[in-house]
Amino acid sequence: MRHPFTYNLLNDSLHFNRPASSDSSWKVGLRPPPKDVRPQTEDVTATKGLEFEEMFLRRELLMGIFEAGFEKPSPIQEESIPIALAKRDILARAKNGTGKTAAFVIPSLQQIDVSKNKIQALLLVPTRELALQTSQVCKILGKHMGIQVMVTTGGTTLKDDILRLSETVHVLVGTPGRILDLAGKGVADLSECPVFVMDEADKLLSPEFAPVMEQLLAFLPADRQVMLFSATFPMIVKDFKVSLWTGPFVPDLTTEYAIGKTHEISLRDQSHG
Ligand code: AMP
Repeated sequence: MRHPFTYNLLNDSLHFNRPASSDSSWKVGLRPPPKDVRPQTEDVTATKGLEFEEMFLRRELLMGIFEAGFEKPSPIQEESIPIALAKRDILARAKNGTGKTAAFVIPSLQQIDVSKNKIQALLLVPTRELALQTSQVCKILGKHMGIQVMVTTGGTTLKDDILRLSETVHVLVGTPGRILDLAGKGVADLSECPVFVMDEADKLLSPEFAPVMEQLLAFLPADRQVMLFSATFPMIVKDFKVSLWTGPFVPDLTTEYAIGKTHEISLRDQSHG
């Protein structure tokens, strides 16, 4: 169940006019893929009717979204994107298949200045397969923006990564160990990276990864934005959140309220599922 505060925040402080929806000239020459006609569950269909065009996204990003075949934001995207664009931290509970990847990729891409030769979004995932999938989503959605995406995981030579990092990288996607290695060697410069995303945070914060995550965070600027997505919220995620959040507040971990500049999003109460 969504907490009413979620609605209040969206309805009261983030008004969506319909700025770009009447001007669809950016669609000229673009071809969306064939429609997906498979039956969909409520996770995907129970939207409030917000449009991507109402989110004040860059035209080039809207073009990528359109070409990916995304007609309307899914519920997790409706909830997350406006809050993320306001540069608030997010703790979102969402299952795979709900559109959660685009829920953090879209606001991450929106914030990137392609004229700047710096890593500006760090997207951490627990597996190589997920890293490849996530980087693919970045490339598809960022196709018209000129965004340079690099994916790095264990299992490839460090030398290749070092060479790649000598060229422009705006979005770095990967598993924590390899990225820490690159950051520790001074090869991956995260000092101006304002966006830090953890997907499948429950896995990223398992005992195997948690110390690496802590060390990695130290390479990012203090005022970075954190977006944390997880299908479940075990204690380990809640504990980590305490050390992660930078706002001047004491998080109340027993509720799903927005706290300080953090916003918690839950589409479904999955505590039993
Ligand atoms: P994910 O939950 O990120 O694994 O996404 C599940 C699937 O939904 C992927 O195939 C996405 O391409 C697709 N998808 C994500 N957002 C949308 C959207 N707004 N409209 C249609 N399909 C979407």
